[in-house]
Amino acid sequence: MRVELENVGKTYDGDSWAVRDLKLDIQSGAIFGLIGPNGAGKSTTLRMMATVMTPTEGQVRLDGQDSNSDPLAARRRIGFLGDGNPLYKDMTPADYLRLFGQCFRMGKAELEAAIDETLTTFDLTAKRDTVCGDLSKGMRQRVLIARCLLHKPKLLILDEPADGLDPRGRSELRRTLDRVRDSGVTIVISSHILRELDDLCDQVAIIQGGRLVVSGNVDSIIDSHEVSRFVYELRTIEGHERALELLAGHRVLVEHTGESEGQKLIRMQVQGDEALMASILAELISAGVKVVTCSRLRSRLEDVYDRISADKVN
Ligand code: ADP
Repeated sequence: MRVELENVGKTYDGDSWAVRDLKLDIQSGAIFGLIGPNGAGKSTTLRMMATVMTPTEGQVRLDGQDSNSDPLAARRRIGFLGDGNPLYKDMTPADYLRLFGQCFRMGKAELEAAIDETLTTFDLTAKRDTVCGDLSKGMRQRVLIARCLLHKPKLLILDEPADGLDPRGRSELRRTLDRVRDSGVTIVISSHILRELDDLCDQVAIIQGGRLVVSGNVDSIIDSHEVSRFVYELRTIEGHERALELLAGHRVLVEHTGESEGQKLIRMQVQGDEALMASILAELISAGVKVVTCSRLRSRLEDVYDRISADKVN
């Protein structure tokens, strides 16, 4: 399903705008990430996309149709997981799915078949009869997402789905979303952490104070902002001082030095591309610096975000 937002705005109090002038075009079959700090207007935007809230101005179009012209029909094609969704602790995953399937007025046979299929898709068959209170956080998250897909929507909207998940839960979430996307469903997710969405989304929009800062295809955003400053952490076991001397001869800004687990750390901004870092590293090693690791600390989208924010301040 293609989702278009045409100059969408929302005010809760008739005075200040939670979201204003939002223009987005989400391609059918994409994983789209809506990114912004807390209070930026992400939940408000997602609620309007999900038709649970009406825009004060502008229009949300789903496959070219104004979603407000028939909100109930639109909602049948959408799976929405807002923030703060409860899972009833005493219910099993099968009971929980049944409850939501009944809300969508699915017929009994169709619903039971969909429950079996969904539990299999989400690797929950073995936990079918375990109460949700006894499931891991990652499994509970899968149950929540599963219930959004039971009625086979064409658009899945998840508000901060990675919030509170540990790294394992996050990689499970990634796998789940990839699978859902492969089935042809358009996915919209939000996050206040850029890193979470960086290599997961095809398209992203960054919003701040209810307004769009940048949107589009992830690769083209990165290209168009010519990110030229990379932050690395260098860990050495010998030659720390020598490394600092050599780095001073390049366009490198040392942000922090320290020590951890017997290794010396240098966190630095390198004003150049990855080829420059590779040549600096080669120089350090040939000068006898014993390098253990050298890793990028921030994702590419985080670099874009820093760059945009700096431009706004200047
Ligand atoms: P985010 O999801 O990015 O944290 P929200 O959409 O929740 O942002 O909030 C955007 C703005 O709208 C904030 O200033 C918030 O206080 C306000 N807001 C959100 N929900 C409501 C509401 N139900 N009533 C009044 N103001 C709200």
